[in-house]
Amino acid sequence: MPETRPQPARRGCLPATTLLAAVLIFAAKLKRALPIATARVTLLGVPVDPLTMPEALARAEGFIASRRPHHIVTADASGVMQAQDDPALLGIMQQAALVTPDGAGVLLAARMRGVQLPARVSGVDLVEQLSALAAQKGYLVYLFGAAEGVAAEAAEKLKARHPGLTIVGTRNGFFTPAEEPQIVRDIAATHPDLLFVALGIPKQEQFIRGYFTELNVPVMIGVGGSFDVIAGRLQRAPVWMQRTGLEWLYRITQQPKRLPRLAALPRFIVAAWREKV
Ligand code: UDP
Repeated sequence: MPETRPQPARRGCLPATTLLAAVLIFAAKLKRALPIATARVTLLGVPVDPLTMPEALARAEGFIASRRPHHIVTADASGVMQAQDDPALLGIMQQAALVTPDGAGVLLAARMRGVQLPARVSGVDLVEQLSALAAQKGYLVYLFGAAEGVAAEAAEKLKARHPGLTIVGTRNGFFTPAEEPQIVRDIAATHPDLLFVALGIPKQEQFIRGYFTELNVPVMIGVGGSFDVIAGRLQRAPVWMQRTGLEWLYRITQQPKRLPRLAALPRFIVAAWREKV
């Protein structure tokens, strides 16, 4: 008779799926019952702004009109957890003009606080929407970061999608500390209205804050891996996965080396829960 020993992988699969389903049902129930936040929600010291995408665009336009430099941070669970171990990064996030919620974990943590953030405003969506706005209003855009050729490729894709868009410069994100002052001078000399910096967290936030006044760009945003997605080097998750808060799962299938970073999500939820209690 064949042996019918239970298979360990399958045995683990059922509780994990049940747990995930329970968390999603719980999150959906919370969402229905909660009021929309009207003020910044501070999660583990990081102030997150309750904004929809149109509101974020309107704020960016206000920054451009002011001609003064502003830093926009897109905060996900991994970034917030990095800031717990890096007081300088936490300080940078606290000083930012705007912190948008970028990730299902941040939305869930706000719900645990008793409020709902109206929308997820991710780096890649901001690049796309701000580029559309820039094409319409004549704002100048600079793309800095990612591997050699990726920013230029992303620039071509954006220009094709948003006719009339002016991209005043692109540069890859691999450089030595000695090269930084020249990079900053090159960017500043093009006088962009919008600077997208794709160096990953914390490098992009350190670069923006470190050269804040020298760059003097009205809107500076750290956008992580957005250029890789826009250039087509990485696929974005299907819309249903983005909507159900499962984009992180899709990214793991694309970049398995990101798997260790996934540990930040449960750590973040537990820490946010503890902070609430
Ligand atoms: N990158 C870069 N310079 C560096 C390190 C990384 O330009 O020294 C780029 C990398 O090529 C990728 C992006 O920064 O395009 C990081 O993407 P990731 O999704 O890891 O960003 P995060 O999730 O950290 O915001």
